[in-house]
Amino acid sequence: MTTGFSADISGHLPIRQRLADRLLAGRLQGSLVFTGPEGIGKRRVALELAQRELCFRRSACGQCEGCRMFAGDDLPFELPNLLRITPEGKAGVIRIDQIREGLDSTNQPRFSRGVIEWASLAPPMGCHRWILVEEAHRLNESSGNILLKTLEEPPEGTHFILITHRPEALLQTIRSRCERIPFAPLAPREAWAVAQRLGWQEADQDRWSALGEGSLRLLDETAFQRAEAQLEAWLALLGGAAFGEASGPLLPEKESALAQGEQLRQPLELLLRILADLARLRTGEAPALAPWREALGPLAAAPLDLKAPQEAILEALRHLARNLSPEPLLREVALSLRS
Ligand SMILES: [Zn+2]
Repeated sequence: MTTGFSADISGHLPIRQRLADRLLAGRLQGSLVFTGPEGIGKRRVALELAQRELCFRRSACGQCEGCRMFAGDDLPFELPNLLRITPEGKAGVIRIDQIREGLDSTNQPRFSRGVIEWASLAPPMGCHRWILVEEAHRLNESSGNILLKTLEEPPEGTHFILITHRPEALLQTIRSRCERIPFAPLAPREAWAVAQRLGWQEADQDRWSALGEGSLRLLDETAFQRAEAQLEAWLALLGGAAFGEASGPLLPEKESALAQGEQLRQPLELLLRILADLARLRTGEAPALAPWREALGPLAAAPLDLKAPQEAILEALRHLARNLSPEPLLREVALSLRS
């Protein structure tokens, strides 16, 4: 049986088909966790399941009144067959009140009732109840624990979908109760097709594709420029620039919605990619960050130890807690490049 799919989602067709088939056959688990890199469309695939049920044509056509509820950037938190739970407030966590009472960060009702109660209502006709937990790694211990019991045996017709690019940060008890659906990055041409639709120009294609690694994280021009500046900052530091001169783009932005420590994740992961490329070049392989080959070449030829910085980065990534001081941590990683 073929099912219609949204034309607005790129890629992942085999997974989407499998989810649709299993749902139709009544074989879709009540608790799922969608994993895979950030910005590849996991959330959109989850939404498509709910959208198809409200679509007048049952195909996520994107044209009808039902589909229109899912359109635009300001997707509602509650729809007749859907609840979206997202991290809230400055700390960026999913708090217990959000689950228990359905409140937002200012203690106003976000949902018509608490999540567990909502999950147990009878689904609207011809529908299931979908509960999306976005950035599920931001559940804390108490909000995670209150979800647990329901995740173990969701009410008939109700499906929880936890979405995360950091499954290792979920409570082990939650992980073990959910079926894991792993998503792969988009093919470069799938990702670039989306970028082109949004006005990105040919001249940026190679750099955009290399930095984004099959994700849509860098669709926003400012995000792309920031990632590129961070990459170049590391190349400068590797080339011997002083920390104070080159580190600007690596430091967290005060205004960002992301916690300061969390903002270090991207630059640190970029440095890991650079080091991996240097190792590749040393064995005669092509670098993944090919557009920066000219800067990478001489660094690969230099007598630079790759192991010490790699360890320093992995150690730093393990400790990206909320209250650390980002600058000393970055400085320490930069120092390891000198060893
Ligand atoms: Zn429709």
